[in-house]
Amino acid sequence: MQAIQKTGLKDRERCDLCGGARFQFLFSKSSEGGQEFGIYRCQDCSLVQTLPRPDDEELKKCYGEQYFSRRTERGYDNYMSAAMRKQLQKVWLMNLKDVEFLDFEDQRFRQEERRALDVGCAGGFFVEFLESRGWQAEGIELSESVAAAGIREMGLRIHIQDFLQFQPESPYDLITLWASIEHLRSPSEAMKKISSMLKPGGMLILSTCRWGALSKVQGPSWRFLNVPEHLFYFSTNTMEKLARRHGLQAQKRITYGSGFTAFEGMGVGYRLMKSVADRTVKLLGQGDMMVYSFKKTNVHSL
Ligand SMILES: [Zn+2]
Repeated sequence: MQAIQKTGLKDRERCDLCGGARFQFLFSKSSEGGQEFGIYRCQDCSLVQTLPRPDDEELKKCYGEQYFSRRTERGYDNYMSAAMRKQLQKVWLMNLKDVEFLDFEDQRFRQEERRALDVGCAGGFFVEFLESRGWQAEGIELSESVAAAGIREMGLRIHIQDFLQFQPESPYDLITLWASIEHLRSPSEAMKKISSMLKPGGMLILSTCRWGALSKVQGPSWRFLNVPEHLFYFSTNTMEKLARRHGLQAQKRITYGSGFTAFEGMGVGYRLMKSVADRTVKLLGQGDMMVYSFKKTNVHSL
């Protein structure tokens, strides 16, 4: 570990949120390939991040064809399956109700045009979900193999490219990021771009794992520490700070997830324990996932 602290952190490493360069080492974590990374907290703004941050080439290797088709700690077990689609739709609907999206959707449906973009859309299930609800939806995805499946099998409009390079035709009413902001090399750049792409009063909905009581207690064994794919671990404070800085005001926030992961064949005892724990953390706002709705305001504040 000493090696990372002394030589692994290059001078160029800066906090993406505040630009600071003073990091407190929390613990180390190995990647699937056995490479060791450090989990650090910025001493100026508290954002927790994986360092040293891999470059674009190294990251690209993490998202090969197998990422969405092979069961690993970090990838997905056949992401395009019908069972996965059903499970995702259930979670999305729950999340959307929780962050009061349905009222916003009603308002936007009084307009002639309602455009939506899902960033990090994988095979496009959420794009399809929005289309089925009457949205003009598009997705953007870096992983070519999984996006190609969505285009081929569902005829969806998916842009295969880096979000920061994307040039939209016109602004959106809704932008969503389901568990993708923690994968981005610069959430600050992404948030700036999102804000510029939203219509006034437009909505951003995002979910991400939450740095909080559970992650602090569990340390290196916390279920979302997938290095180096997960580059940032936001708390509610750091997330709201990032959004506010780019003119996005939090409307509604919920947390969920107790750390008990559902799996096929789980016993009655486990199921019961998971159910009680899941309800408790949601009620207390201590889940290790969080979902937000943000509205674009006209005033940019710091
Ligand atoms: Zn910082």
